[in-house]
Amino acid sequence: PTLTGEDVLHKAREYNVKFIRLQFTDIFGVFKNIAITVEELPRALEGRVMFDGSVIEGFVRNRESDIYLLPDPSTFVIFPWRPREGAVARLICDILAPQGEPYGACSRAVLKRALARAGRMGLEFRVGAQVEFFLFHTDAQGKPTVVTHDRAGFCDLTPVDLGENARRDMVLTLEEMGFNVSSSHHEIAPGQHEIFLKEDDALAVADTMATFKFVVRTIAQRHGLHASFMPRPLAGCNGSGMHLHQFLWRDGQNAFYDPAGEHGLSELAYRYIAGLIAHAGGLTAIANPLVNSYKRLLPTDLAPVLAAWSEENRSTMIRVPAQREGGTRVVLRSPDPTANPYLVLAVSLAAGLDGIGRGLMPPAPLAENHAPVKELIRRMGLPRNLFEALQALAKDPVIREVLGPQITGRFLEAKEDEWERYQSQVHQWELDEYLTYF
Ligand code: GLU
Ligand code: MG
Repeated sequence: PTLTGEDVLHKAREYNVKFIRLQFTDIFGVFKNIAITVEELPRALEGRVMFDGSVIEGFVRNRESDIYLLPDPSTFVIFPWRPREGAVARLICDILAPQGEPYGACSRAVLKRALARAGRMGLEFRVGAQVEFFLFHTDAQGKPTVVTHDRAGFCDLTPVDLGENARRDMVLTLEEMGFNVSSSHHEIAPGQHEIFLKEDDALAVADTMATFKFVVRTIAQRHGLHASFMPRPLAGCNGSGMHLHQFLWRDGQNAFYDPAGEHGLSELAYRYIAGLIAHAGGLTAIANPLVNSYKRLLPTDLAPVLAAWSEENRSTMIRVPAQREGGTRVVLRSPDPTANPYLVLAVSLAAGLDGIGRGLMPPAPLAENHAPVKELIRRMGLPRNLFEALQALAKDPVIREVLGPQITGRFLEAKEDEWERYQSQVHQWELDEYLTYF
């Protein structure tokens, strides 16, 4: 439902809201917020809350520090776990430059621009997200450990799954806040869980993600656990992905579906898939933004390693599940939960639209009994580390254009630096492997 500023003021009074968290995200997908009191709300709704952007990496350089937050009234949601007296609510904000134009490093503006482009082609982008995460114990000082709360496996039932209470609480809280959860289950690794956010308008899903992580962490804490979205926290177990179920709709119809098409897919679907594959390298930098992200993308761990598509195979970045008609979708399996949701949705949509615009066709889907994965990786592998992905991003004009010069420049600079810092370390594995032999 679309709310106006008036509605928000009204609801805030009605529900006795005392504090409002004005949420926004930096280009690295780190969610930030500024808390204001309800007295400040009218001023905030006019976009007059200024903040010193210079403290936020990715936003500002030097002294260009006057940045304004403009809350989107339709994102008003009350946090259910706070006391009814003096409740707390959130509003998601756009970031404006001093003259009121969208700020160059506002990720939400990047997604809005990409959605507007789709809109001009008559297309609506809808997205569902399967987000995986671990629940770990904390130590005596309250610091997170990598000790999991259970030894359960995929979809195990209680009583083995001690994190189930925490997860149930998370789902209930999300639903109470008006977010649609389609399912949740225990994932393959011990202590690993998944929550599936039902498909919705792409902007709403990206907005939900910020609050989602906050809810998951908060509820985990209340159960004495630490929730981690790190892509690969445990060497011996699967990592955590964020599979993005992507749909394009046109005139109230699923535009990926065509009963007469090969595999029941429309020409548009093929071109979209081809676009994602064509931009796989640069896309990976945004979808898998940490050094650690690449320790998840291994052929052995149900995570993708190939710039290819398939219906069943899970080593490809794209899977097209069997469901047809309204449920026809392209699942991008490569992103992990540390990706900036606005940017990863914007770049994947733009890559797909580029495939449509240029009339690209993808290779045949990867068959069940394909060549050995090692050989396929040589031919069509995704970047194997952050540095390779950044190089691909630097060379991809389409993705650079979607992100805009400010985000592209700052992202490359900060991430190259992250890679160099990692590379300058000598890791325990290297000592164990080489020290005695060489
Ligand atoms: N954890 C796997 C990943 O990293 C996905 C497992 C699954 O298919 O749900 O993407
Ligand atoms: Mg999963």
